[in-house]
Amino acid sequence: MTRDSARAGRYHIETWGCQMNVLDSDKLAGTLESHGYRRAASASEADVILLNTCSIREKAAEKIFSELGRLKPLKKRTPELLLGVCGCVAQQEGERIFARAPHVDFVLGPRAGATLDEVLTRHRAGDRTVRGTLDVEYRSDSIDFPFEKIRRAAAGTGRAFVTIIEGCNHRCTYCVVPRTRGKEICREMGQIMEEVRSLAERGVLEVEFLGQTVNAYRDSNGRTLGDLLAETARLDGIERIRFTTSHPAQMTDALMDAMAAARPKVCPYLHLPVQSGSSAVLRAMRRGYDREAYLAKIEGLRRRIPGISFGTDIIVGFPGETEREFGETLSLLQEVEFDTVYSFAYSARPGTAAHGMDDPPLELKLERVNRLQALQNGIQARRNQGWVGRAVEVLVEGPSKKRPSRWSGRSADYRIVNFSGRATPGRISAVRITGASAFSLRGESVLS
Ligand code: SF4
Repeated sequence: MTRDSARAGRYHIETWGCQMNVLDSDKLAGTLESHGYRRAASASEADVILLNTCSIREKAAEKIFSELGRLKPLKKRTPELLLGVCGCVAQQEGERIFARAPHVDFVLGPRAGATLDEVLTRHRAGDRTVRGTLDVEYRSDSIDFPFEKIRRAAAGTGRAFVTIIEGCNHRCTYCVVPRTRGKEICREMGQIMEEVRSLAERGVLEVEFLGQTVNAYRDSNGRTLGDLLAETARLDGIERIRFTTSHPAQMTDALMDAMAAARPKVCPYLHLPVQSGSSAVLRAMRRGYDREAYLAKIEGLRRRIPGISFGTDIIVGFPGETEREFGETLSLLQEVEFDTVYSFAYSARPGTAAHGMDDPPLELKLERVNRLQALQNGIQARRNQGWVGRAVEVLVEGPSKKRPSRWSGRSADYRIVNFSGRATPGRISAVRITGASAFSLRGESVLS
């Protein structure tokens, strides 16, 4: 079908970044569909193209500008095409996007997604002044998006993300999030539960509560993440509950108790970003805890939930990090034995407190990242090997991407499991583990 004949119109969204952005794209898609647009097979067939951007990684803005350059001939050929930049790069770059890419029609920050509704209404009424719309307000009602409108791209996997808090009140010296996403705003717990109930009715087995500092959640009635876990665990249909990303300083005893009380539905896995094993580096990062306090949280969780697995994030080569301090990060990895580690070489972000500090040479940072990953891969391989011969319950996401004749899913403690035999996407299968690598388990369905 040609663009002219497609009366309802088609859309294409490109998404970068974290789960929050994935869910934001589902909200943007829902808004487009409420105006009658349908998903296009590719950008070249679309009437509306949105780039939903992330600024966590280095040169994020440059990547977006190069993508915009790639789309320029398409926009030139079809001037009626609407091209929008959304998300964190939109917030950070604002007006500069129009200056460098005049073919962009509108720019909406992460808290201005609702403005898309107005842009589409005006555009469809023939209002050409939508061109040049810029909205980078920190709206406090952005969290109240009507959940029925969300167009969940991952429907059928049995999993769904649910936003409970947006923004961040911390000021880690390397991080742009407080500037791009603004201060924390929380959704009312009643509204969250309504969404979770409707997901359960649609066959969703696993919900993952999202927020940059998800464990800081507190609604206007003082209800906390612990209350939310307890209430969700009482719901029939929901079998697994996760939440991310937690800040270690806000991992309170009360929350740990609530996690233990809501077992087994609360999954025995927690992503708890430590960033460094050195208290001096953590202080320079302004993380609000030291090595000992972090280890005490891990110990408190292991005491309450035996066998719990942990994932973490590490920034390697923060300005001023010495070899001894880096060694403290390696020893922390050995002490905790994480099951997943996302490690990154530090890169300065404009507008952050650490920008302009003495940045270690890239070669040194990469050499440290390699050493860290080699150590961690060994830890993961050993820990995964311990699962061989055991049976695990796997929530099946669908065919494995590498070997479509196999299934792929996650265990409750978040290990990737690839397996053969009978299974249904979106349902839980019992799988006997027959092999393991540092990154995944493999096995056979017990039913096969
Ligand atoms: S807690 Fe720190 S790292 Fe996390 S989003 Fe807030 S400022 Fe960024």
